[in-house]
Amino acid sequence: MANVAFYGGETVPLEMHKVRIVQKLSLPPVERRLEVINQAGNNTFLLQNADVFLDMLTDSGVNAMSDQQQAAMLVADDSYAGSATYTRLESKLRELFGMEWFLPTHQGRACEHILAKVLVTPGTVVPMNYHFTTTKAHITLCGGTVEELVTDAGLAVTSTLPFKGDMDIGKLTAVIAKHGADKIAFVRVESGTNLIGGQPVSLKNLAEVSAVCREHGIVLVMDASLLADNLYFNKTREDACKGMTIREITRAIADLCDVIYFSARKLGCARGGGICIRDRALYERMRGFVPLYEGFLTYGGMSVREMEALTVGLDETMDEDMINQGPQFIAYMVDELSKRGVPVITPAGGLGCHVDAKRFVDHIPQSQYPAGALAAALYIAGGIRGMERGTLSEQREPDGREVFANMELVRLAVPRRVFTLSQIKYAIDRLAWLHENRALIEGLIFYDEPEILRFFYGRLKPVSDWQERLVAKFRADLGDSL
Ligand SMILES: *Cc1c(COP(=O)(O)O)cnc(C)c1O
Repeated sequence: MANVAFYGGETVPLEMHKVRIVQKLSLPPVERRLEVINQAGNNTFLLQNADVFLDMLTDSGVNAMSDQQQAAMLVADDSYAGSATYTRLESKLRELFGMEWFLPTHQGRACEHILAKVLVTPGTVVPMNYHFTTTKAHITLCGGTVEELVTDAGLAVTSTLPFKGDMDIGKLTAVIAKHGADKIAFVRVESGTNLIGGQPVSLKNLAEVSAVCREHGIVLVMDASLLADNLYFNKTREDACKGMTIREITRAIADLCDVIYFSARKLGCARGGGICIRDRALYERMRGFVPLYEGFLTYGGMSVREMEALTVGLDETMDEDMINQGPQFIAYMVDELSKRGVPVITPAGGLGCHVDAKRFVDHIPQSQYPAGALAAALYIAGGIRGMERGTLSEQREPDGREVFANMELVRLAVPRRVFTLSQIKYAIDRLAWLHENRALIEGLIFYDEPEILRFFYGRLKPVSDWQERLVAKFRADLGDSL
């Protein structure tokens, strides 16, 4: 955001946009929230959006579009083949990434599907800084395995390291030596990282990864779904990037890669996705799968309206006033929560603010899902919907034993340009209240536990009447406020 000093001395992330279309929200009273979360089996995925005040579940497909994106959607050229809309998107990507070839898909995981189909064969290995759920599933489905090579320091919950998403180069060369370069399907860098708190990758680290890949003739693939946040961190945290424009940093990053794919539900604030490819032969190997799984080559499962919005959205991603909004709101939230003693992942990353449930409710055993319990409690306390990222999101061993997650997090996503600062302040306030009253929060147990993807559909109940006691304390402290 623009560097505007407040005379009062306060540091405030000032919005460099104004709101021109609004969606009405409702905040049901706390008693109703208690009822609703229990109807949803204490699973925030099962809440009806009409009952949610601040939806901080995800940043996927829910970022605000600009007036220019909306306007572009009206001039979309709807034709099966040879659409001018498609050509505009292709040229924009060529301009930004300098890669010759492009394949459109209907979303990010569809890119992963095609990449895995072409590059992963049984017994091959895909080293990466850190996996994303759908990435790992597609690689595993094709018989490959994932090696996670993020630096050990990247997994520390609290840190002052600016680039916790960096890959450990020593681990990378060791994995290549162990398996042999011909067994490496490709190397994947996710920038920024999703599951470890939106933490970024430095340009310097990417250059080192790229040098190792080029030395061994290994394809380097970047998952650029969260690149907008990463670019902001390159620009503000990395000395070598301080004098570069966002466009120049983007190009420097792209020049180090062979393939760049992305979810346009995040990058470019639209829908859809795509794969940019440097090498023609590799492009031709992938091309055949687009009509098979996605749609004809020039629409790839994306509507032309989304393509127009994406073309404009990608261009707007080169504007620092646009990409800084998410990270600066998140940093504000992380700083204010830290000041109030609420445990969060540090330093602030992209995507959202990650609350550390392991420390927040350290009296709840992992077998009773501390992060799930905290997410339910936060909905009760504020009508705020976060996402559990802990043991609940893991899968049991075949013999029924629980797999305890490394981190127990409640992710509070901050979709880009969606919330106002007073709403962020409200979330901080309710979290701080909950932290003061954390002794009241207890665990959850399943009463309906699906075998697959239990975090999406599973239903749980509280181990005691702790939620009623939490509501009573809320009334005692906040009177008849909602
Ligand atoms: C969301 C996401 C994906 C998957 O994209 P979808 O459009 O949801 O299929 C892949 N990688 C990363 C890093 C993501 O954040």
